[in-house]
Amino acid sequence: MIDKSIFIDKKAVYYTLGCKLNFSETATIERKLQEAGIRTARRGESADICIINSCAVTQEAEKKCRQAIHKLVRKHPGAYIVVTGCYAQLSPQKIAQETGVDVVLGIDRKGDVLEHLGNLCKNTEGEWYAMPSKDVRNFVPSCSRGDRTRYFLKVQDGCDYFCTYCTIPFARGRSRNPYISDLVQQARDAAAEGGKEIVLTGVNIGDFGKSTGESFISLVKALDGVEGISRYRISSIEPNLITDEIIEYIARSRSFMPHLHIPLQAGSDEVLRLMHRRYDTAFFAQKAATVRRLLPNAFIGVDVIVGTRGETEELFQKAYEFIRSLDISQLHVFSYSERPGTQALKIDGAVSPAEKHRRSKLLIELSEEKRIAFYGRNRGSEAVVLFEKPRPGMPMGGFTENYIRVEAPYDKELVNRLVRVRLGDFNSDKSALSVDEFLEIR
Ligand code: SF4
Repeated sequence: MIDKSIFIDKKAVYYTLGCKLNFSETATIERKLQEAGIRTARRGESADICIINSCAVTQEAEKKCRQAIHKLVRKHPGAYIVVTGCYAQLSPQKIAQETGVDVVLGIDRKGDVLEHLGNLCKNTEGEWYAMPSKDVRNFVPSCSRGDRTRYFLKVQDGCDYFCTYCTIPFARGRSRNPYISDLVQQARDAAAEGGKEIVLTGVNIGDFGKSTGESFISLVKALDGVEGISRYRISSIEPNLITDEIIEYIARSRSFMPHLHIPLQAGSDEVLRLMHRRYDTAFFAQKAATVRRLLPNAFIGVDVIVGTRGETEELFQKAYEFIRSLDISQLHVFSYSERPGTQALKIDGAVSPAEKHRRSKLLIELSEEKRIAFYGRNRGSEAVVLFEKPRPGMPMGGFTENYIRVEAPYDKELVNRLVRVRLGDFNSDKSALSVDEFLEIR
């Protein structure tokens, strides 16, 4: 048992890098600390504790993490600095020695931040200690309201795929998940708190069920039956794991939105093989076509990595043409980053940073063309928008069922409400559609 009196009057700040899963886990840590009496510091207030949830997906992410630590150390002198997450798991000594943090906690220890803070407040005198998890096996549950309106429910962790460029399986361990019954209960709790939309997060979500003998489609069906939750989104699912049965179910489900995010990673079979991905371009094209056939108005987001070792100019051109031929809504473009310990380092044909930048720019332009065309097709149609609490100084925004961003003048009555609208034209920078007419507040 922790003596919570040591936390009286303590204030904390939180900084998250990386994926939705990390954001979900940070929110869970914040809730636990609040329950123990540690208040979240207000803007401009100095904090006693800084929690950094790190990411190791690229060199850039690691650099940003170190920069964030230095910034927080300067801004909150004397605060306890706790770093957790993938980078903390993979490089605890480096973080501790280069940044002077107090505690570095590995992946499995994220759930124990409070206990470690307790020890720190009582026992250590400016000494850091690094505790990466030796064998990452636990499932640390997390279902948290993001900083705005949606909930993020962690349904799975870890990955067994070992793509040649990726460090995530080393950081987060093998694929594992909780029971469906536990997740249904967490969704019910979110509904009881007023939650309307839940984003399912994880590392390799489609792999759900490996550790419990269940399946992802059974999870989808069970969650669809939870009263009070009007919307679910699947944050990302591997192309080989999104079965036709799942797509068909989403097409007739009560609450799963016509919105899928499917990582392609490379648009040529040669590079897909180098990456050890489990499909080829023909399979991906057929999968995207099935989604489009069964969910004609779905938003389809696609991840792509440019400049992987072995991606020649000719292969990039081939990939570009392939991606251009897909009827998808947006690309998420990443530049390949060398990761220590990965198999990709043994592949010949490194691509220069300038060339990676050029390829990335071309795909980002293609993505914008596709997104604007997709948004444009929806102008004048009816849609239901879940409006979110805006950030200070920003217009009120929300997303339609098929993930079109919609903006409207701030009206506090509409926050966290499902509102049927007629979609208007683009806003000034074409990042969102406006509302032509408000039709119904649900
Ligand atoms: S599927 Fe591949 S890219 Fe995704 S987390 Fe697993 S190893 Fe990494």
